Amino acid sequence: MYHRIGEAVSDVWDIAVSASNFEEQLQVLKSTGRVISLPELVAGMHQKNMKPNRIALTFDDGYVDNFLTAKPLLEHYQIPATFFITSVNLGQHQEFWWDELEHLFLFTEQLPAYFSLKIQDTLLEYNLSGEAFLQEEQKRKHRKWKAFVQEPPTVRAQLFLDVWCHLRPLPAAEQQAQLQKIRDWLGVKPEVRAAYKSMTIKQLQELAQSDFCTIGAHTHNHAALAAHNRAYQTSELLENQRFLKETTGQEVNLLAYPYGNYNEDTFYAAADLHFYAGFTTEAQTVKPDLHPYGLGRFQVKNMNGAEFQNQLLTWESNS
Ligand SMILES: [Zn+2]
Repeated sequence: MYHRIGEAVSDVWDIAVSASNFEEQLQVLKSTGRVISLPELVAGMHQKNMKPNRIALTFDDGYVDNFLTAKPLLEHYQIPATFFITSVNLGQHQEFWWDELEHLFLFTEQLPAYFSLKIQDTLLEYNLSGEAFLQEEQKRKHRKWKAFVQEPPTVRAQLFLDVWCHLRPLPAAEQQAQLQKIRDWLGVKPEVRAAYKSMTIKQLQELAQSDFCTIGAHTHNHAALAAHNRAYQTSELLENQRFLKETTGQEVNLLAYPYGNYNEDTFYAAADLHFYAGFTTEAQTVKPDLHPYGLGRFQVKNMNGAEFQNQLLTWESNS
């Protein structure tokens, strides 16, 4: 499972792989001779006819670098991949809320000394007076911080994570309203970094036409599905599936849950929309006896070819 291919100032969720490391990883994958497309892998699973140790690549979210950087490399090495696309930002001059939030809290030079924000029933209050002005030392810590495995290294990082956790389950409109309050608190306008945009519609269409690329669903607004009722979940999936189908002219029957987040209602919603398979972010291999809507994936980190080769062996020995 990949997300972004490119450099990142900070990468707290460990989701950016540099273009040169990605190319080395593709060379390793090519040398295994075991990469197949995700549709092929899923078909084998449904037919209980899976060949051992096959590998399928996926990308989540629809970042523009998937088209600009990943697609040419995949075509060069003739390696197939499936792209799970969140549709809300396609062709829009906008970053995803989590990228903007990370950048605002971790890298704005001067913050007001006091932060106060009510998110649903919770009042978040922080005294930032010790860190209002961003020091080089904090910046360095923020660049290296990995939120899945490390405690927040600064108060700013703590605040970011706290707000992130409270925004994640909200409906998209509410996330945007809260983000606007944070921009107002900082006195800034939305800053859109080119590298954090989604693909344009035309780029998505070109991606879909490539012999090596399959398009999959990832909800319209990148919803944390389990936080919502079944009707909301269905509307997120349906809007996304319909949009991707109409835009690319392809059937969209593979699904990845944003944040790997799902519940029983998600399975019903996915079944209603005739998805063949649903993927989480749980680190486990695909086996024929698993529920087709609860399939795992391994997150590829920013490592070079040699490190990646070892990583593959570890994943295989877990299977
Ligand atoms: Zn995602």
